[in-house]
Amino acid sequence: MINSPPKYNKVAPPDGYQAPGLFATTLDKVVGLARKNSIWPLPFATSCCGIEFMATMGAHYDLGRFGAERLSFSPRQADLLMVMGTIAKKMAPVLQQVYEQMAEPRWVLAVGACASSGGIFDTYSVLQGIDRIVPVDVYVPGCPPRPEQIINGFMKIQELVGSEPLRRRYSAEYRDLLVRYGIIK
Ligand code: SF4
Repeated sequence: MINSPPKYNKVAPPDGYQAPGLFATTLDKVVGLARKNSIWPLPFATSCCGIEFMATMGAHYDLGRFGAERLSFSPRQADLLMVMGTIAKKMAPVLQQVYEQMAEPRWVLAVGACASSGGIFDTYSVLQGIDRIVPVDVYVPGCPPRPEQIINGFMKIQELVGSEPLRRRYSAEYRDLLVRYGIIK
């Protein structure tokens, strides 16, 4: 018996001008298309939300379908920092250093209540949200969030990545943001 051919999801082309034998668009859109479908996440997992992420990477949910098959355990080859779990204040400088070691452009996904706001741990020792130390692009609610929610958050990141102007990282607003976080002087 001949197996049916595998089905592939084709990535839609960006907006542009089409004619027979011709397709024209902007550089921003082409780069955005490539970036959003080849994200290399760095999983910074400290507790239970990390287990949900393991399920998200497993065969059933398969984050690899979104072009994010290749996880990076080095910040130097990652462009998406995924923070999953409780971040103790002692851990905060480490997390900020990992962020600083990532090259631009970089994005941050806060997964779950602890990473987003400290969650149920309203105590002296727990950071009340990672946005106290690094700028966050997307927050995923839940304690823990289901893999579907993590995927939804990842897709929101893809929307941001795909629509980001190439010059944003050189803008005065972005520079001011990093100065406010103490990431650059
Ligand atoms: S949000 Fe809930 S499930 Fe996630 S790390 Fe915190 S306590 Fe654990």
